Amino acid sequence: MKKAIYPGSFDPVTLGHIDVIERASKLFDHLTIGVLNNIAKTPLFSTEERVNMLKEATKHIDNVEIKCFGGLTVDFAKECGANAVVRGLRAVTDFEYELQIAQLNRVIDSEIDTVFLITDLKYAYLSSSSVKEVAAYGGDISNFVTPSVEAEVKKKFEGKIKGKE
Ligand code: ADP
Repeated sequence: MKKAIYPGSFDPVTLGHIDVIERASKLFDHLTIGVLNNIAKTPLFSTEERVNMLKEATKHIDNVEIKCFGGLTVDFAKECGANAVVRGLRAVTDFEYELQIAQLNRVIDSEIDTVFLITDLKYAYLSSSSVKEVAAYGGDISNFVTPSVEAEVKKKFEGKIKGKE
């Protein structure tokens, strides 16, 4: 069985993430999505909310499961029995950051390799932060996320739309 993990914050999951998940699920027999419980970042959504949104958004894919993790990515990969880490690449700015992390992970554990999937052009501009930014000003995010994630994001900003307080 070829197993991989796809770690990230997914705060919240976007159509760009889902595209990467769908493609990675065809390359590997099993894909575990790791929702990072990162104490350094203050997410908009709790880990549980992020896990639930991912479960809903990926329910059409059989070989995908969602877990949360808090330690080293390579340790999480080992725990899942995976020897590959999937990451998405949008632009050169992603590349510099991702290259450094991939190299660091290989130094920590040379058994684990990082596989990069280049973003579909239609999602190249899309990030969780831009979704939150647009939603914070009351903009339409229906082209960026699934309808159920859109509803969850709207709930978070209810009564707090910037410029309309
Ligand atoms: P992190 O906080 O670890 O960067 P993110 O949730 O922002 O987590 O992203 C997880 C992974 O998905 C990263 O590899 C990121 O580059 C990738 N990614 C994010 N948005 C897109 C997109 N629109 N297209 C392709 N990959 C993406």
